[in-house]
Amino acid sequence: MMRIRLIAFLLIATLGTMAIAANRTGQTPSARPPGTSYKAPAFTFNKITDGVYHAVGTGSLVVMSNATIVEGDRDVLVVDSHVSPGGAWALREELKAITPKPIRWVVNSHYHFDHSHGNQIYGPEVEIIGHEFARAQILAGKSQDSPAREFFVGGVPATIKTLEGRLAAATDEKTRAQIEEQLAIQRNHLEGTNAVKPTPPTMTLTRKMTLFRGGREIQLLFLGRGHTAGDVVVFLPKERVVATGDLLVNGTSYMGDAFFTEWIQTIEVLKGLDFDTVLPGHGAAFTGKAKLDHWQAYMRDFWEQAQKFHKAGTPWEEAAKLVDLRGQAANYPAIRAPGITPNHAMRRAYEILDGKVK
Ligand SMILES: [Zn+2]
Repeated sequence: MMRIRLIAFLLIATLGTMAIAANRTGQTPSARPPGTSYKAPAFTFNKITDGVYHAVGTGSLVVMSNATIVEGDRDVLVVDSHVSPGGAWALREELKAITPKPIRWVVNSHYHFDHSHGNQIYGPEVEIIGHEFARAQILAGKSQDSPAREFFVGGVPATIKTLEGRLAAATDEKTRAQIEEQLAIQRNHLEGTNAVKPTPPTMTLTRKMTLFRGGREIQLLFLGRGHTAGDVVVFLPKERVVATGDLLVNGTSYMGDAFFTEWIQTIEVLKGLDFDTVLPGHGAAFTGKAKLDHWQAYMRDFWEQAQKFHKAGTPWEEAAKLVDLRGQAANYPAIRAPGITPNHAMRRAYEILDGKVK
């Protein structure tokens, strides 16, 4: 009896030590979440400077936003967690080829579903940092039940049906293979987004937080309201790099939660930071400050027109079709016709003009 107890004790002690060892060298091991049937790699890690990477989705797994990776002396900070636990899991797996250091910090640039819905894969050894507004929004269910999520993800079941129809009608092998690949990606995307349990930041800031990780200074800054009421940019002053989330993207940003006039001002504050390289939440990284001017000009144009439509009593749905931003096409070549999609931007403008937004 005594011997069995001793063996049991030794066994438990050994397992315990093994578990501690696993935690020391890496992360809390987590099971592969739903939504991870994909052909690796899911990400391309673009090296910006030593230990700093911009992780951009390849399309083999729908991740919907970029991540920024900042390696410290002992651990790694990641900006944003993508649209699903599967996306965040894939990033963490693929990051192992870049660095053996564990992820200890995840920053949510803002509360939107496509930047925070992978938070749940991170264990208690990881702090998730966001603006206090982001935490409040996620806790209130606003990342899940949002017009933005409905617009960008709500159509996935219909897309799958369409692809199934096309597959049934397709005869040649090459076309069938292409449709099957698309179907697999969309089915996996649906499985991944269905598995989301919105998980708020464990640590919040209102203005500024700075992490010193060895020689690396990492500033988390709230520069004013803009894309949402709680956007955080991650600024590396020595490396002259800033990760901007959706406050500034490579292209036009979603404006359904925008504070238009404040956003123009916040971009002005962003201009005051001393950086060369911008790592946006969507689209490719870029250098210089010209795109800050372009985005301000776009918003000024939109806001002026929105005010005119509102004053004239034009219904917002109509105004969203009539608004003409072709004057900005030199900087945003995707603009070819009047109208703004999604029309959430105009609805938001009217809500502000009606005094419904605090
Ligand atoms: Zn966003």
